[in-house]
Amino acid sequence: MISNIPKWAGGLLESLVGQRAEVIATIHLSPYLKKVRFQANISRMNFQVGYASVIRVNETAYRNYTVAYHDSRAGILDIIFHIHGNGPGSEYAHSLRVGDQLYISSPRGHKVYDPRKQRQFLFGDETSLGLACSLLPFLKENKHTFAFYFELDDINKNVPASLGLENYSIYPKNQLFSDEERVRELPICVDSDWIDANFVLTGNVKAIQTFRKVLKNNGASHLYAQGYWLQGKKGL
Ligand SMILES: Cc1cc2nc3c(=O)[nH]c(=O)nc-3n(C[C@H](O)[C@H](O)[C@H](O)COP(=O)(O)OP(=O)(O)OC[C@H]3O[C@@H](n4cnc5c(N)ncnc54)[C@H](O)[C@@H]3O)c2cc1C
Repeated sequence: MISNIPKWAGGLLESLVGQRAEVIATIHLSPYLKKVRFQANISRMNFQVGYASVIRVNETAYRNYTVAYHDSRAGILDIIFHIHGNGPGSEYAHSLRVGDQLYISSPRGHKVYDPRKQRQFLFGDETSLGLACSLLPFLKENKHTFAFYFELDDINKNVPASLGLENYSIYPKNQLFSDEERVRELPICVDSDWIDANFVLTGNVKAIQTFRKVLKNNGASHLYAQGYWLQGKKGL
């Protein structure tokens, strides 16, 4: 995915595929997680679970963010930003205030929800909370058996509850997900009823790689993995 383009090309692209949006509310879910509500004409946008929108975060840099919630008739959409403090996307999200205006692209990417699978599993971190919020209504409406595993900094551990998420387990960031042996012992890997589930792995690339390997070795075949960020790499 392109994360840097010249300023002039960015301006042109935004006017063609972007929608002008205004910040109408911001809420700090924790000191490092910020939910921002935008107002825009989104009636022609295509929202699918797993899609992401691109936002220009400075003159030349673009970053991907998931729409956690939208209401096309009211013209509102929410994004949950991880304010990790290491890059321009995080800085830009931190700076957003009510009244700010920006372009948000129409969401695009991979659909991750497969309604044919009775069991659904999502793994992720702070960057995946928006995805979980967009997926939850489908899981409940279609009466799936589902589980979320979140790897979160301690300071963010109460955020899934405040977002109204259900059936989640929270794991600290203590290298568990880079240790194959420990991943093999997780309930989701031990319980054979889950082997046929729709597995969606997102967030930290390193954690996903380990989790994916263990699930594949166990025989899971319905598996979708997308890294949302990689230590030391800009703009994944
Ligand atoms: C499909 C998709 C959907 C996404 N949805 C969301 C979303 O809803 N909310 C959200 O917050 N992010 C989301 N992301 C992740 C976000 O795009 C990346 O975290 C991005 O790198 C942030 O840009 P940045 O400018 O802050 O950091 P960058 O300039 O890209 O990176 C600078 C440094 O920061 C590190 N870094 C990047 N992200 C993190 C992080 N989360 N934690 C710790 N260190 C990090 C990098 O490894 C690098 O060392 C999504 C990504 C994808 C691909």
